[in-house]
Amino acid sequence: MEPFPSVSGIRAFIGLGANLGEREAALRGALSMLAKRPDVRMVAYSGLYETEPVGYREQPRFLNAVACVETTLEPEPLLDVLLAIERAFGRQRIVRWGPRTLDLDLLLYGERRVQSERLTVPHPRLFERAFVLVPLMELQTWLPASVLPSVRRALAATGTDGVAMRKGAGWANIG
Ligand code: ATP
Ligand code: CA
Ligand code: CA
Repeated sequence: MEPFPSVSGIRAFIGLGANLGEREAALRGALSMLAKRPDVRMVAYSGLYETEPVGYREQPRFLNAVACVETTLEPEPLLDVLLAIERAFGRQRIVRWGPRTLDLDLLLYGERRVQSERLTVPHPRLFERAFVLVPLMELQTWLPASVLPSVRRALAATGTDGVAMRKGAGWANIG
């Protein structure tokens, strides 16, 4: 018998990044921790990309991916979950935009806009970053129809330089 779907909620998109330590293991571990939660269902995740650092350039290359989840958590509690997973992977905040073992950003929360002291959604730099836009476009089937045109437009503007796919669909082995 098919398992009864346990979560039906808002579709959220999460950006994952790492450029220190066991980068792929951290991204895979983060996806698996998310997928194991009763209030989060993994809908889909992108391929795994290796990307050139932007902003603060003198640091190792990143691995990046984007996941689409369905969640019953409100945006701020979802951010708390993401920050807790970052801490579980040893994230320390030293330099803004500097090297890190794991970075999880809440990119989109359905079509909702959130503006609080701790949280801005859509993520304020989402539309400037090829390392987010390229994996996000892979998940276009799940994007809200109102967001897709801006993602396309943004990607046309950024181009895809510095963003190289390393592993395709299914790399994290998570159902
Ligand atoms: P960037 O936001 O440019 O990607 P960063 O990921 O390096 O930079 P962090 O140091 O990870 O920034 O996050 C700093 C704070 O940003 C977090 O503690 C969180 O409160 C806040 N924040 C605001 N909006 C978001 C969002 N959409 N997703 C994740 N964090 C956010
Ligand atoms: Ca980030
Ligand atoms: Ca972050």
